[in-house]
Amino acid sequence: MNDEGALVLLSGGQDSATCLAWALDRFSRVETVGFDYRQRHAVELRVRQEFLTALRAAFPVWADRLGEDRVLDAGALAAIGDTAMIDQVAIEIGENGLPNTFVPGRNILFLTLAAAVAYRRGLRHIVTGVCETDYSGYPDCRDDTVKAVQVALNLGMESRFVLHTPLMWVDKAETWRMAADLGGDVLVEMLVEHTHSCYLGDHETRHAWGYGCGECPACALRAAGWARWTEAR
Ligand code: ZN
Repeated sequence: MNDEGALVLLSGGQDSATCLAWALDRFSRVETVGFDYRQRHAVELRVRQEFLTALRAAFPVWADRLGEDRVLDAGALAAIGDTAMIDQVAIEIGENGLPNTFVPGRNILFLTLAAAVAYRRGLRHIVTGVCETDYSGYPDCRDDTVKAVQVALNLGMESRFVLHTPLMWVDKAETWRMAADLGGDVLVEMLVEHTHSCYLGDHETRHAWGYGCGECPACALRAAGWARWTEAR
């Protein structure tokens, strides 16, 4: 158990919720931060609260370690606009090979804001669920980007933050397995019921792997990972 504190970027999606369990398994003091950037799937801001409540109720040991939660306004991203993650446009691949769900600067901004919170709260470790194995091609999810941001934050804030990316080299099937290892079927069921990944914000249609349209890139990844994991189980 690490006595230094950790801050987890909790969006309300499967990946960051799994990272929260990962952090609670390792750090004696864990706080969470989320961001409101007027995302189409704003339902994730609601389910992240549900997830925290359910987690506290089901895992008393983790509840003791779990501290403050905050949601910061990152609405400047919406003001810049022109992304399918915020605007009501069809999801497609652009000329540069990137999906138009890419929000330029988003993860760099989130890590910077998180580090500012961690600085004020005296938390050395920052945990984010970005992943380059099984992802949508976002360059700010890459390991090199996160490492470069860590250097910049530490220089710019005269700090020794450690950025953790527990999911960087695992695929979605392994993410489900990690959750089962950390919190058993109780945690897996909580992830199914109280996290949201669908880009289109569909939180009505329930599948074995959770809620979503079942068609968008985020749903496709989540469903395929669930299928591989449950087959191998
Ligand atoms: Zn979807």
